[in-house]
Amino acid sequence: MSERFTGSFTQQEPIPDEGIEAALRVMQSGRLHRYNLVGDEPGEVALLEQEFAAFTGARYCLAVASGGYAIATALRALGVGPGDKVLTNAFTLAPVPGAIAALGAVPVFIGVTPSLTIDLEDLAAQAGQGDVLLLSHMRGHICDMDRLMAVCDAAGVKVVEDCAHTMGASWNGVPSGRHGVLAAYSTQTYKHMNSGEGGLLITDDEELAARAVMLSGSYMLYERHLAAPGPAVFERVKYETPNISGRMDHLRAALLRPQLRALPGQVARWNERYRAVEQGLRDTPGLALIERPEAEIYVGSSFQFLLPGWSATAVQNVIRRCAARGVELKWFGAAEPKGFTSRYDSWRYAPSAPMPATDRVLAGLLDMRVPLTFSLEDCALIARIIRAEVGAVYQSVA
Ligand SMILES: *Cc1c(COP(=O)(O)O)cnc(C)c1O
Repeated sequence: MSERFTGSFTQQEPIPDEGIEAALRVMQSGRLHRYNLVGDEPGEVALLEQEFAAFTGARYCLAVASGGYAIATALRALGVGPGDKVLTNAFTLAPVPGAIAALGAVPVFIGVTPSLTIDLEDLAAQAGQGDVLLLSHMRGHICDMDRLMAVCDAAGVKVVEDCAHTMGASWNGVPSGRHGVLAAYSTQTYKHMNSGEGGLLITDDEELAARAVMLSGSYMLYERHLAAPGPAVFERVKYETPNISGRMDHLRAALLRPQLRALPGQVARWNERYRAVEQGLRDTPGLALIERPEAEIYVGSSFQFLLPGWSATAVQNVIRRCAARGVELKWFGAAEPKGFTSRYDSWRYAPSAPMPATDRVLAGLLDMRVPLTFSLEDCALIARIIRAEVGAVYQSVA
């Protein structure tokens, strides 16, 4: 009898008791809206912003309704508007080009390398096409950020970081999100903190911070923010910044604050699981692991590997055989978008030229979630199953 995995790839851990108790207090108070406060009560949202600013080392932080909203707000604060071109990764998830398209702007896709990071040569070649790079640290892979910033600085390109998969990660000791002028994080269920939906935006720039606060729907209540610039900065922007409501509420912030305190420990647990999968797959014939650079502290909340040069049929065989044994793999080479997974050429609202080097990477790219509900034994079992099924298909086609 071959082994079978019976766990769920979409099952998260429960909200910590402390978060549940804080959420109950918010509900008992009836004051869920972030500006519904009594006396000098700071409120859960403003406290979360203060704590997340401290966690990343940023001067300012704004909590919003989703990661995609945080990205669109960052772009709006920078003045991106209809018809503007925004450089971005060809390998990312749909909310990224979607945030660009939401402003009537046009994504310009930059290729991906076999290390699953943005192709810096392609970026240098295309940097003249836009003033802003929306850099997605897709699946938690961080490119050489020192080189990327040198390329962007030389071309006068401002960087907005999409840190949906790098909350808690860093490059050369600098927290992910602290290289660009703004960074967005998601607290949607499958990310590193779970409030169902939610997003966070950080920056050191006072004017961008003030605009973001106004954009998020602060009315004229910006003085309630504890991780925002002073009123003088708001005076400069308050008549010119539209209110596009997308605030976070106290209930979600209450769920998130204890999770933020627990995050470093959770990162360590994710990485133990990641390494258990990696160790189990090392030296599998036909399979290439993604080697992680030393400068990168990653968060192993998902795992990727390549079947380089494999035919679509052979890759699909591996996926089917793994699925039959309970292991869910997602494939970025599929012609049709499926579930959470789609590719640059399926975002037809955003025109793209063929990208053969990127297509070669995506054609062999498999991905799986590693939720913290998996034990280390689960991870070892999953790796044994993938190893056996990759081996079986590889032998039959080699
Ligand atoms: C999840 C995600 C986002 C933001 O998503 P929301 O669901 O809007 O919070 C942005 N970029 C990437 C790569 C993501 O995976």
